[in-house]
Amino acid sequence: MKQPMLPKDVFLIINQLNEAGHEAYIVGGCVRDCILGREPKDWDITTSAEPEEVKGIFSHTFDTGIQHGTVTVVLHKTNYEVTTYRVDGDYEDCRHPKEVSFTKSLKEDLLRRDFTMNAIAYHPSLGFQDFFHGMEDIEKKCIRGVGDAAKRFQEDALRMLRALRFSVQLGFTVEEATYSALVEHKALIGNISAERIHEELHKLLMGNYIQNMRLLWESELLGEISMPLQKTMEGYGESIITQLQGAPFDGEIRWGLLLQHWKASAVKELLKYLKFDTNTLRRVVGLVEMLPMALPRNEYEIRKAMGKFGAEMLCKHLEMKALLGDKEALKIIEKVQELLERGDCYCLKQLNFCGEDVMALGVPKGPKIGEILGYLLDVVQQNPSANEKALLLSYAREYCEKE
Ligand code: ATP
Ligand code: MG
Repeated sequence: MKQPMLPKDVFLIINQLNEAGHEAYIVGGCVRDCILGREPKDWDITTSAEPEEVKGIFSHTFDTGIQHGTVTVVLHKTNYEVTTYRVDGDYEDCRHPKEVSFTKSLKEDLLRRDFTMNAIAYHPSLGFQDFFHGMEDIEKKCIRGVGDAAKRFQEDALRMLRALRFSVQLGFTVEEATYSALVEHKALIGNISAERIHEELHKLLMGNYIQNMRLLWESELLGEISMPLQKTMEGYGESIITQLQGAPFDGEIRWGLLLQHWKASAVKELLKYLKFDTNTLRRVVGLVEMLPMALPRNEYEIRKAMGKFGAEMLCKHLEMKALLGDKEALKIIEKVQELLERGDCYCLKQLNFCGEDVMALGVPKGPKIGEILGYLLDVVQQNPSANEKALLLSYAREYCEKE
C-alpha cells in the first residue's frame, strides 16, 4: 500500500486549513490513484471549512461550484478544488440532488461518494480515513458501491457507467451485488444527459483494460444508450476488443473502430446524439467512410490521398486498416512519413502557384481557377520536382490554350 506523496502546494493548503481550525484531507480519485501507484490527474481536497471560510484563508480563489461547496484555490498557477464536507439531499431525475447541505462529519461526506475506492480520505499526519474498506477493495481490485448499490444507482444513474468505466481504466471487477444492481437498474441511464454519457464512454474507450468493456453489453447497459450499438457489440464485440487492444490511444481511431461496421449516416447520427463537437464528428465519420477504400499503391497515389484527406487523417486510416489485418498499410505509413520528410508537395498550400498567378494569365475569378490549380497539383503529385513556378506557369498556359 503506497503512502500518498502530496505535492508541496497540496500540503500547504491542508496545513493552512488546519491552522485556521478546520479539518482537511485529500480525497477521491487522487487517493485511489496514489494507492494504486498511478499518477493522480488532479488533487481534490475535502474540508470542514465552509466555502466563505475557504475563500477567507487563501488569497487567490474563484467559485467553481459554489452551490455544491466547491471553491478553486489557485497556488503557483495550479488549480486545486477545495470542497466543503457535504451530504446530498434527495435526488431528482436520477442525477441531481435537490439540495446539498454542509456537514462537519467527514464520514458523512465520504458516504455520498460512489464507490468504496473513491471514498477514502488521507491526511499527511492523520493517515487514511477509510470507513468503507476502500483499501481492501482496491487490494481486491474490486468496484463496490458505498452502502446499498441499488439505492446509489437510483440516486444517480451515471454511477453505473462510471463503474464500468473504472473497470476498464483500472482493470477492476465490479463486485457482485453492485453488478446485479447495475443490471437491474440499467434503464435509469436514460435519465442521464448525452454529454455525460459521451464523456464516460470516451474515458472507457481510452482505458487500459479494454477487455472489460464487454460488461457494457453483457449487462445490457449499452442497449439503454443505443440498441443498435448493443447489437453490434453482441455480434462483433470480441473482435473489436482485440483490435482496440492493439490500437493507439487516439480517440478518433478508437471511436472509428467501435463503429466500423456502421454506415456513415448512422455513425453521424449517434455521434450527433452524443454531442460530439463538429470537427471530431466529421473526422470519425470520415475514418469510417474511408475503410472500404483501396490502399494507395504508389507514391503518386499516396500523395493524392494525402492531398485529399490530409497526412494525419490518412495515417489514422492506415493504422485502422493495419489493425483490421492489412499488413501493407504499415508500410504505407512509413512511406507517408518519408514523403513528408522529403517535403514532397501534395496539397494546394504547398503548390508554388496560387489563384492570383492563374488570374495573372487572364483567367477571370470563378471555378476555372480551382480547376487549373487542381490540374497543376495533380501534375506535381505525379512528379514533385515539377513544383517550380516557371514550370507551372508554362503548364498553366498550355492548359489554358488547350481549352
Ligand atoms: P478520474 O480519475 O476520472 O478523475 P475520479 O474518481 O477523480 O476519477 P471525479 O469525477 O473526478 O472522479 O470525481 C472525484 C470524486 O468525487 C470521486 O472519486 C468520488 O469520490 C466523487 N464522485 C464523482 N462523481 C460522483 C458521482 N456521480 N456520485 C458519487 N460520487 C461521485
Ligand atoms: Mg478526478
